[in-house]
Amino acid sequence: MPIRQLAPDVAAKIAAGEVVERPASVVKELIENSIDAGATQIRVDLLHGGLQLIRITDNGSGISLEELPLALARHATSKVAQIDDLEQIRSLGFRGEALASIAAVAEVTLVSRQRGAEQGGQIGALSGQVTEVTRAASPEGTTITVRNLFSAVPARLKFLKSRTTEISHCHHLLEQYALAYPEIRFNVFSEGKQIFSTPGDGQLSSVLVAVYGLQIAEQMVPLSPGDRTEDSDAPIVTGYTSRPTCYKSTRQHISFFVNRRWVLSRMLTTAVEGAYHSLLLTGRHPIAVINIDMDPSLLDVNVHPAKTEIRFLKERRVFAAVLRAVRAALLEEPEMPEWKPKQ
Ligand code: ADP
Ligand code: MG
Repeated sequence: MPIRQLAPDVAAKIAAGEVVERPASVVKELIENSIDAGATQIRVDLLHGGLQLIRITDNGSGISLEELPLALARHATSKVAQIDDLEQIRSLGFRGEALASIAAVAEVTLVSRQRGAEQGGQIGALSGQVTEVTRAASPEGTTITVRNLFSAVPARLKFLKSRTTEISHCHHLLEQYALAYPEIRFNVFSEGKQIFSTPGDGQLSSVLVAVYGLQIAEQMVPLSPGDRTEDSDAPIVTGYTSRPTCYKSTRQHISFFVNRRWVLSRMLTTAVEGAYHSLLLTGRHPIAVINIDMDPSLLDVNVHPAKTEIRFLKERRVFAAVLRAVRAALLEEPEMPEWKPKQ
C-alpha cells in the first residue's frame, strides 16, 4: 500500500485505543474529570457492563455554555497551559484527550450547568461528529452519557470479555477511587440496581467498610505518618494495612495512591509485602490502602495515556518510606487500642 494520510475519523479511532480500552477506562476518565471539577457526589449508572450505557452525574463546577464545544475537542484542557505545568501537576487529567477519544468510539451526550450560571447546555457527539450546543435544563454540575461503546469498532468489541467481567472491572476501579476520595459520596448502579456506595463522610475507615465489609475493616491498622523532622520533603505515607491474620490469595487488594492518583506499581507492592516478611506465609497477601503524598516535581505521571503508571525520581526513597510505614504499623499494633471503624 502507498503511504497515505489517514482520514481524521480513522486516525481519531486509532488514537482513542490508547485511552479507551474497555468500559472501565471510560468510567475512569469520567470519574477523574468529576473529581477534578471538585464534585462531592458522583453517581455512576451502567447498562450491560457499560457497553450499552455509562452515565456519570456529578455536582462539580460544571462547564459554561461557551466552553461546551471545547470539552469534546482533542487537546483542549482547562488544567494545564504550559509544558512546565506538568512539573507541578495536581489534577488527575491534563492531556485534554479523554472526552475526544471517547467521542470517537461511542455516542456521547454532555449536559452541564456551570456553578452559579442561569442556564445549562447540552452537546453531543455521534461517530466523532460534534453536534451544536443547545440550551438544556440541568442541575449544577455535569452529566455525561456514553452509549454503544465500540459499536463502530468491531475489532475492539471482539476483545472484550463477558458483561460480568466488564462490570467487575468497573466495580474494582470505582472502589479504588472511593478509597482515594473518602470525602466524595459515590453511588454506583448496574442495570438499575445499586452495587456500591460510600457515605462521603471523609473517613477512609468508612470506605474500607464499604469496599471490604466490616469484618475485614476491623482487621486493618492505620499507618502513622512517621517522624519527618529529619527529612521534611520525604514522602508522607498514610492509610491502612491488614493485620497478618487477615489476608487474601492475590495482590489485587493492595492499593496505592500517589498524590491521590491511583497507580499500579510492582515496586510499591514489593515494599508492602516486604514489610510482612516472616509474618505471612507464601501465597498469602495483605490488604492495604497506601496514600503517598509527595512533591509532584519528583514524579513523572505522563508515562502512559492511562496514567496508572508513574515514575519516581527517587524510587528507593519512596520504597523505603512505604516499607517503614507498613512495618511500623504492624510492630506497633499489639499496643494499639481496639480499633472500631466509624459506622
Ligand atoms: P482533561 O481532563 O485532560 O483536561 P478531558 O478530555 O477529560 O481532558 O476533558 C476536557 C475538559 O472538559 C476538562 O479540562 C474540563 O475543563 C472539562 N470537563 C470534562 N468533564 C468535566 C466535568 N465532569 N465537570 C467539569 N468540567 C469537565
Ligand atoms: Mg480528563
